[in-house]
Amino acid sequence: MKLIYFDYAATTPTHPEVVAAMQPFFTKKFGNPSSIYSLAQESKRAIEKARKIVAKAMGAENEEIVFTCGGTEADNFALKGIAFANKDKGNHIITSAIEHKAVLEPIHFLEQNGFRITYLGVDKYGLIDPEDVKKAIGKDTILVSIMHANNEIGTIQPIEEIGKITKEKGIYFHTDAVQTFGHIDVNVDKLGVDLLSVAAHKLYGPKGAGALYIRKGTKITPFMQGGGQEKNRRASTENVPGIVGFGKATELAMANMKEETRRLENLRDYLIKGLMKDIEDVILNGHPKLRLPNNVNVCIKYIEGESILLSLDAKGICASSGSACTSGTLEPSHVLLACGISAELAHGSLRLTLGSANTKEDVDFTLEVLPPIVKKLRLMSPLYKKGNKK
Ligand SMILES: *Cc1c(COP(=O)(O)O)cnc(C)c1O
Repeated sequence: MKLIYFDYAATTPTHPEVVAAMQPFFTKKFGNPSSIYSLAQESKRAIEKARKIVAKAMGAENEEIVFTCGGTEADNFALKGIAFANKDKGNHIITSAIEHKAVLEPIHFLEQNGFRITYLGVDKYGLIDPEDVKKAIGKDTILVSIMHANNEIGTIQPIEEIGKITKEKGIYFHTDAVQTFGHIDVNVDKLGVDLLSVAAHKLYGPKGAGALYIRKGTKITPFMQGGGQEKNRRASTENVPGIVGFGKATELAMANMKEETRRLENLRDYLIKGLMKDIEDVILNGHPKLRLPNNVNVCIKYIEGESILLSLDAKGICASSGSACTSGTLEPSHVLLACGISAELAHGSLRLTLGSANTKEDVDFTLEVLPPIVKKLRLMSPLYKKGNKK
């Protein structure tokens, strides 16, 4: 059975050229970049080469890139680092209700530790209104953190407009760009951000590598303390192979971004159209236009997302649902709930995120197997019978 991977928002396979670029740094070129002999300096040079590629790809200066172990660390670093370094100026932070857990959980931690948090709501498409950001800003506001694009529903936020507001007010602005970097245009000056998080494994790089962009002059406390690596901003011996792989992945992503975006947008729209046509009572989540090129997220009425995932898995299709099964209870997605979708409907969400290996045949196969799966599950569903009687 052919495996059809439709979960590129969760992670991506590492590109073979990336693996090849990393390989020597595990075995022959294993030196610690902090040591002074030539072997070590080779590691150091490789890191700086990767830094240059990543910096250039987002329009940043080399010194503004700090390598981390991934998106979660970059988010934690940005939020806690800004909060602790600037608490003499104020204790208020503005974020949104639809952020990734890698932002929401450190925000909760800060809330428990004396910071005041405003969670902005979104419209039915998952969009934040920049006017709401403006209204929420007070004298004690030190940071705004709004994601570039949402990982579940794919909605792309008006970051540029928010950036103009924060700049005018002199407030730090962080964006989680884990879903956008290497996929759509990400430029720190155009976006008007002071901090930006990225993760290599979302753009065909290795897991365990990422970066935080920190605009020059930003007052931030290091998240990891220890040695003097990354100009005292991130202690711990650098993940040299990971960083090298991150650089290579960025280079490859930038080289074919335009074509790949167009290809994925076409596949995405073809899949959305097919789902709406072939299955009754399907609702598209997220914005119809302002969405990631590879994101399809729908609610299929009267059934559980989890049961669709299991049936799709039996056909070799890897997909995802907004509802995470934790300790036996089904928690509907906080993102869908924030969009005003009922808990009942949110349980029937299905996310298909496309990527490099996907073809029209994959989409056709999915459109062939999914309608009968839905039909079968609906016949077993008490919700469906109830819904039909009305
Ligand atoms: C995947 C993801 C993260 C977490 O990144 P890791 O590298 O897995 O720690 C953070 N934010 C968003 C939006 C993501 O999609």
